Amino acid sequence: GGAVRFDNVSFHYDADRPILKGVSFEVPAGKTVAIVGPSGAGKSTISRLLFRFYDVTDGSITIDGQDLRDVQQQSLRHNIGMVPQDTVLFNDTLLYNIGYGRPDAEQSEIVEAARLAQVSDFIASLPAGFQTEVGERGLKLSGGEKQRVAIARTILKAPPILVLDEATSALDSHTEQEIQTALDEVSQNRTTVVIAHRLSTVIGADEIIVLEAGKIRERGRHADLLEQG
Ligand code: ADP
Ligand code: ADP
Repeated sequence: GGAVRFDNVSFHYDADRPILKGVSFEVPAGKTVAIVGPSGAGKSTISRLLFRFYDVTDGSITIDGQDLRDVQQQSLRHNIGMVPQDTVLFNDTLLYNIGYGRPDAEQSEIVEAARLAQVSDFIASLPAGFQTEVGERGLKLSGGEKQRVAIARTILKAPPILVLDEATSALDSHTEQEIQTALDEVSQNRTTVVIAHRLSTVIGADEIIVLEAGKIRERGRHADLLEQG
């Protein structure tokens, strides 16, 4: 399950300023749709509507045919996982950080999630600033490393629907590659909405939607969009 559908969705925060203007798209269960477009286009607003931080002004959003307004908040939270750009880590091991909030998770499951998210290399290491009896042993994690920890958490949680908010900051190509591998892994067989800032990161998406000023300007697969320029 987990098919997501936006049907002619309009939305405004302030009545005199429409943000989304009749946006329709569908993410079939297990598929990946990427939303790209300039800053301010309304991309994050789409993810906020999906989490029901706000309700649509017009149109509807459904999950497996059920209107979001009829879905229990709790069930929504269990069904939708978010990989944010910025992740807060606790002053503890990465294993602890990945397993946080999952007391039932087996150590082996956590280790496997870490492997899939490409964080095995620093699995026993500590976030920056961690104080131990032997003094500061913190390993400073980069934004990209933190994002992979967030990905590992999400793999462990295994929600049927994922919202990935890709980093806006310029990452070096090696880091970007590692994150891409981790994201590909976590979105495998899950309904996924990627909020992307660069076309280059969503080559494999089943559909790419180009959003501009709250409207869909074009849509297609990566190669189609490149052709159109
Ligand atoms: P994107 O993710 O594409 O950069 P957003 O969805 O974050 O775009 O924002 C779309 C527009 O909505 C922007 O013009 C932004 O300033 C405006 N906006 C975002 N959040 C709010 C809010 N809470 N109240 C009023 N306007 C908002
Ligand atoms: P859980 O139900 O997994 O114990 P929460 O209820 O805190 O944890 O969060 C449920 C889901 O909603 C998680 O996938 C989380 O990432 C997402 N979520 C919670 N708060 C936000 C937020 N402010 N922005 C985006 N996603 C959020």
